[in-house]
Formats: sequence, structure tokens, C-alpha cells
Amino acid sequence: MVNRLFEHATLVTLDDENHIYHDASLAIAGDTILAINDIPPDFEVQERIDVGGRVIMPGLYNAHTHAAMTFARGFAEDLPLARWFNERIWLLESALSPDMVYWGTQLAAIEMIRGGIIGFADHYFYMDRVARAVTENGMRALLAWAVFGRDESEVGITVPETVDFVRQTQGAADGRLRACLGPHSPYMCPEDFLARTAAVAVREDFGIHIHAAETAGQVENSLRLTDRTPIELLAHLGLLETHTLIAHAIHVNNVDLEFLSHKGVNIVQCPSTHMKYGMGVTRVPDMMVRHINVALGTDGAGSSTALNLWREMRLAVLTQRQAFASPTLLAGDEPLRMAARNGAQALGFSNSGVLAPGKAADLIVVDTTAAHFQPVHDVIAALVWCTEPADVQDVMVAGKWLMRNRKLLTIDEAQVRRRFGDVLATMMKSPHRQFQTYDDGKS
Ligand SMILES: [Zn+2]
Repeated sequence: MVNRLFEHATLVTLDDENHIYHDASLAIAGDTILAINDIPPDFEVQERIDVGGRVIMPGLYNAHTHAAMTFARGFAEDLPLARWFNERIWLLESALSPDMVYWGTQLAAIEMIRGGIIGFADHYFYMDRVARAVTENGMRALLAWAVFGRDESEVGITVPETVDFVRQTQGAADGRLRACLGPHSPYMCPEDFLARTAAVAVREDFGIHIHAAETAGQVENSLRLTDRTPIELLAHLGLLETHTLIAHAIHVNNVDLEFLSHKGVNIVQCPSTHMKYGMGVTRVPDMMVRHINVALGTDGAGSSTALNLWREMRLAVLTQRQAFASPTLLAGDEPLRMAARNGAQALGFSNSGVLAPGKAADLIVVDTTAAHFQPVHDVIAALVWCTEPADVQDVMVAGKWLMRNRKLLTIDEAQVRRRFGDVLATMMKSPHRQFQTYDDGKS
């Protein structure tokens, strides 16, 4: 167990009292924060780090992504969602290999760690390979093996095997790995399958990560086919009875919001994807007054192109203020909380996302000395509005360095780039076929 002492730090704790400390000390014992400023006199320091006034804050959580989809970055641009799925993404994914998922995830991990993201909620295929990547790269993750509930189209697994995957993965890698069930969505999965998934989740105490209510067309289709909105359908089938994380939830009515609030559902908004595909704006103010936990995600690089949570943070503020004509929405440190603390909560890492004694030693050091920060009148404003991924200097998860002075310590970046390129070349040459169709009545 290594004892570390950070000195001369600006600490943005994101704790309940919004504490910010200047010229502060932070003591870490092994994988846990021991003290802020009141350092015990008998604390034996093995590593002493002079932060020189830079910011230490909780690491960020990407609460909805498909990490391996770095392979689809820039592959399906300028298309409506139906054509994006049917003509590009599902064709390419028909040639997906476990190796593509592993190397694609590691490439994503490089980008995420370099940008201060310490954990991600992943919804994809061959998740055993993602589990291996996370075990090696030192991040935290909530893994959901995506299934459609139609036996012939599952990728790399049977539905019962996803249950075994959750059992085996939950708590692995010294607790850095969590797992849950990953039915794709109410628009792709049959109702009876969703109901069975909900029953298993409740029986086994598993969470659920699912997409829903992304477009107005999906809601219209759902009302026509089931007489229920997508959220009502999920509630009716029992999918909100556990720790549930819903990506997007853009087109929700007030009744839907009451369901989401009463059931304690976690919502993830992915602003750049929402804007890029003209999907709409998540009703964040209406969610916040109902105490719904709203986190932030990048979605996959196949849609958002970048896994940059600082960008998502700013887009969240800007889209909300624009849509609801309110310049005070998501004020102060609220965007940072969404990206860090709310994300940790959505993924089930309740001991992370805040700097306080007894919490996990999950933190990033942000170098605010670059010209684009100057002058720093207000450290919160500087972090929210000025930070770029390259300003993240150090990243620590559970007391272990993942990046130190911009050097990655758990991933061989050159090897990842090379192997990713090799596997991608094979994938692009493989035959592609359409194995399913997305239809929201708008294409
Ligand atoms: Zn998604």
C-alpha cells in the first residue's frame, strides 16, 4: 500500500457543501482518500507530489458509450438515424470480431484516460473482451452485453450466457468492474423478451442499461404498436424495477418523468449525438426538479466522433440554455457534477465521484496554467468552459496512476494503434450483410 501526499493543490471536491480548497494537501492511503488538509502527524509518505496550484478534482465518468466503436469514427456521417443504422453501422458490425472489440476499446481508453475519464458505461458486444481491456487498463466500467432478444441476431453470446457474464464480471478487477443486463432498446427488442429480462434483473438483483425515447418517431411508433410511450412500456414490462440506466430519454412526457422519478432511474444525455442527428434535447431541468439523476455520455465514436466529456459538458449547458431560454440553467459546478459525481452514481460506483476522506482515490489533475485559462478568476468557470482533454495532466484510479505527466502507464499506445489498424483492415475487407432493420417510421 503506497501512501501519497499531494501538496499546494486547488481541490474541487464536488462534495455536498461544494468545498473548494486552495493551497491544500490531500493524503491518500493505498486506494482511499485519507485526509484533506488535516494530515495525521504519523502519516508516512512514500510519494510526495507538489501540484503547484493545479486543480485536483474527481475523475469523469462517461455514462453511455460503445467504446469499441472507435472503428466507426467518421464512417457514417451526415445521415438520418435509420440510414446510419441500416446502411452503415449494422453492415459494418456484421463483420465485428472479438479482437476488434478489444483493440477498439483500448483505443477508446487511450482517448478517455487522456481526457480525464476514469470510468465508462459500455453497451456493446463481446463484452468479455472489454472486461479484459478494463482489467488491464485500470479504469472503472459498467459493462452491458447488448442483446436484441432475437436468437439468430445475438452477437457472440446467447441470452442466458449474458446472465453468467454479469455474475462473473460483477466486482471483478478489485471492484473496478461492474456488469448489468443490456437489452438494446424497446424499439429493437420484442416485448416478451424485455419482460423476461426485467424478471431476471429483479430476481438476480442485476441492473439494466438500455436505450429509449431517442426520436419523436420512436414514440409515435411505440404508441401505435403498444398504446404506450417507450418509457411507459419499460415501466409496464418491469424494466424500471432495478438499478436502471437509460441512454437519451429525449422524448418524454410528464407522466414518463414521474415514472423515471419514482423508480429512481438514471438518465444519460449525450448532447453531441443528440444535436448531430437532430434528435432533440433531454428535458434536464424537468428531470432535476424531480431529483432524477442525470449523467453525461459521449455515446460511441461512430456517432459523436469524439470521446470528449469536456465538450459534452459544455454542449449540455449550451443546449439546455438555448432550448429552455434560461441563462442560469446548469450553473456553477453542476456540469462538473453531472460528468463526475452523477456518472459515478449512475454506474453504481457510489464511493467515487467526490473528493472526501474515506472515498476512493479516483482523481485527475488539471493543469490550468495554459493561456486559454488565463486569468483564472473562478476555478469552476475555468474548468467548465476552458478545459480541453490535453489539459489533463495526471489520472489516478483506486490509488493507481493511469497517466502521469501525460504519459500513459497502463496502455502501450503504439501497440494499440498498430493492432487496431491491422484488425480494422481485416474487418473492412470481410463480407458485410444487413442482419436487422431499424425503423422509426421517419425514413
Ligand atoms: Zn448509444
